[in-house]
Amino acid sequence: MSERRIYLDYNATAPLRAVARRAMLEALDRLGNASSVHREGRQARSLLETARADVASHFGVGAANILFVSGATEAANCLLNPALRDGTGGFQRLVIGASEHACVLSGHRFAPEQTQIANVLPDGRIDLADLDRQLAGPGRAMVALQSANNETGVIQPVAEAAQIVHARGGLLVCDAVQSAGRDSVDGAELGADAVFVSSHKLGGPAGVGAIALVKDGLHMADPLLRGGGQESGRRAGTENVAGIVGFAAAFGEAAGARGEAMARLRMARDRLEKNLLAALPELAIFGVGAVRLANTSAFAVPGISAETLLIALDLAGFAVSSGSACSSGKVQASHVLATMGVKPHIATGALRVSLGWNSAGEDVDAFCETFAETIRTIRRRRVTP
Ligand code: PLP
Repeated sequence: MSERRIYLDYNATAPLRAVARRAMLEALDRLGNASSVHREGRQARSLLETARADVASHFGVGAANILFVSGATEAANCLLNPALRDGTGGFQRLVIGASEHACVLSGHRFAPEQTQIANVLPDGRIDLADLDRQLAGPGRAMVALQSANNETGVIQPVAEAAQIVHARGGLLVCDAVQSAGRDSVDGAELGADAVFVSSHKLGGPAGVGAIALVKDGLHMADPLLRGGGQESGRRAGTENVAGIVGFAAAFGEAAGARGEAMARLRMARDRLEKNLLAALPELAIFGVGAVRLANTSAFAVPGISAETLLIALDLAGFAVSSGSACSSGKVQASHVLATMGVKPHIATGALRVSLGWNSAGEDVDAFCETFAETIRTIRRRRVTP
């Protein structure tokens, strides 16, 4: 008998879409280095450039403005660099939203003393007044602000932030990892000067991502990877053509089905929260005061630890997450919830359910039943001597 598994952790990684698998298998069977001049090389180049044009269309930029990288972490490493150039000189400071992903929070080649943190409000959105205050100091600033939070799904007011940043002469870099395929990542709509995304969050393979250089003339004066002249000298190393082709195919499908898929997932997510609240009125749901991604819910039952719940739910066949996934497999206190002012005894119980292209309504109903039953079992055990 096969064990039933229900995967509700799309914000960590999404299952590979069939279109991506097909495109990758076809590309893997082709021979050729995209830099070679022979026919095989030219064919690999053609696959790569078609994928580049497809990916560029989602950001509303030309193909030449797309740079393929190994994922969002590398993208953040490339962009958060005082040597990024846009014709107006370099950057002396980096201002980061307090709820950013760890790959942005590290600040990369900005020294710790050049890095400032802008507060978030209790509903999870960036405090725009604080952002403006942070920008008021001397020295040109780069600002890193995500489009949506991976733990809570809270959508950031990126376009409003962009106006503030630009009025202060700064540059805005947007981590749009959680919005790609779920919301618009159009550079002009976001108002961002550079945007980056990661393939595996939208049903493409892991190990691929893209940077969209939205602002005209934005230029990486000091590339992270040096060597050959690939990616127009901006990122050396032979391109992962099959991975990039799979990424483009997944992105195309996700973006094309976005409206319908998000309406379906919003209904499922809202039903999940309604059912959980009906069974457990003490449940705290995070970020409800803000607009959230339709697929994400983060919540806690006060006094019940996420670690206990994760293990019990995993044994019952459900893959969910405790806020951000941690590479060590250990549950760590969430800096996102801490910045929102969530008390530690509640934050330590935070779980995240994130739905996606292959989630079914029944998955959510089964989760609600098992979750409520798991809480009852934990509580019974506590009172039984
Ligand atoms: N930014 C956000 C908002 C994320 O959720 C993640 C992954 O969890 C990343 C960046 C890092 O992406 P990658 O693992 O592709 O480097």
